[in-house]
Amino acid sequence: MAGVRLVLATRNAGKVAEFQTALDDLGLTILSLKDFPACPDAAEDGDTFAANALIKARAAFTCTGLPSLADDSGLEVDALGGAPGVHSHRFASPAEDDAANNAKLLALLAAVPEEQRTARFRAVLALVWGPGREITVEGTCPGRILTAARGAGGFGYDPLFYLPERGLTLAELPVAEKNAVSHRGAAVRRLRPLLADLVRKGELG
Ligand code: IMP
Repeated sequence: MAGVRLVLATRNAGKVAEFQTALDDLGLTILSLKDFPACPDAAEDGDTFAANALIKARAAFTCTGLPSLADDSGLEVDALGGAPGVHSHRFASPAEDDAANNAKLLALLAAVPEEQRTARFRAVLALVWGPGREITVEGTCPGRILTAARGAGGFGYDPLFYLPERGLTLAELPVAEKNAVSHRGAAVRRLRPLLADLVRKGELG
């Protein structure tokens, strides 16, 4: 029997690698929007991570006709009232620019002492496999924003995101270890039994 195909509604290579590692053993054929160059990018204009995840998963499902999984995620910094939040990817400029985003974050927090630099990543995953056939799950990862970048792995704000209990930033962890502690990893662990159940029932095709 051909494997069930699942489209990751992203073109972000870092996210594709993380999802592939995390869902490796479910026997799915994992594709991404890189395999569907004609599918347009959805306008992420929702006010919440859940709204944006659903917008992206619905758009990928509509374009590919295949079960589609999207995540929307971002960084909530307490000293900034929860910013950059849903604007994390375009925090510094209309173009997605990790280096500029990190530089802006450091500048805004320049006067904020270590104990007040608390933050969390939040991720919402949306799975859409038909009209009205949708689920969302959420995960968070608490940490602290450093005053200088550390590590070469990961993406986005990872080099500034410090895990006090590990003594490392997310950019200093291999992908599998990042999945074990990250917001996306936590959300994926919630999704896995639901996804496995849908596969078992033959709901995903
Ligand atoms: P989106 O979920 O693709 O809309 O992107 C959210 C933005 O949040 C990314 O572009 C990153 O700037 C940031 N972000 C989300 N997850 C992570 C992560 O695991 N590490 C670092 N930055 C992240």
